[in-house]
Amino acid sequence: MNAPVATASATTRPAIFIDRDGTLIEDVPYNADPQRVRFTREAIEGLMLLQAYGYALVVVTNQPGVGLGLFDDAALDTLHAHMRAQLAEHGIELAGIYACVHRPGAGCGCRKPEPGLLLRAAADLDLALERSWMIGDILDDVEAGCAAGCRTVLLDVGNETVWRDSPRRRPTLRARTLFEAARELIVHSQAQPQAASRPATGASPRVRTAPPLTIDPVVA
Ligand SMILES: [Mg+2]
Ligand SMILES: [Zn+2]
Repeated sequence: MNAPVATASATTRPAIFIDRDGTLIEDVPYNADPQRVRFTREAIEGLMLLQAYGYALVVVTNQPGVGLGLFDDAALDTLHAHMRAQLAEHGIELAGIYACVHRPGAGCGCRKPEPGLLLRAAADLDLALERSWMIGDILDDVEAGCAAGCRTVLLDVGNETVWRDSPRRRPTLRARTLFEAARELIVHSQAQPQAASRPATGASPRVRTAPPLTIDPVVA
């Protein structure tokens, strides 16, 4: 393999953009109660694997409940702080949580399937979109990821019901859980574990050790 010629790509990180409701946590419509937050099956394992491979983990979520007046920004922040604290118990750190709080039809550029949240995160966090992925449970997530220049995984768990088709709404991969999505996209990207990619902040040591993944030819 040749050494990378561009220095820009060496300073930018690939990200995994993760939809929140129905992908990271169970979908409870318009929920603002932290006590009702439940991570989806294998979500924790999936995030641990992705983090070990050096991906920045960024949640991108439509929260029209704010724009509709059902709950406010503060309630949303409280729920997200709770979510972050629960993930931190597993040594998982989110690089960001980006929410569109506008009503459907408000014409904003951030409500998925628009790519605004991903583009803003990429600018804020210096992310390499062409090496990044979007994972979500409906085709609007796929379209947002595709529009931002990322590859995509559809969590095929029955939450998409309309299946409106267009070239941008065809996922690169499909999976049943976040862990399966993580495993598949790592193989597809030929990504390598990034054992030393995280600063030693006293986080749980398990985050610095890539889980065994025998499907990677270098690891195997
Ligand atoms: Mg969703
Ligand atoms: Zn918006």
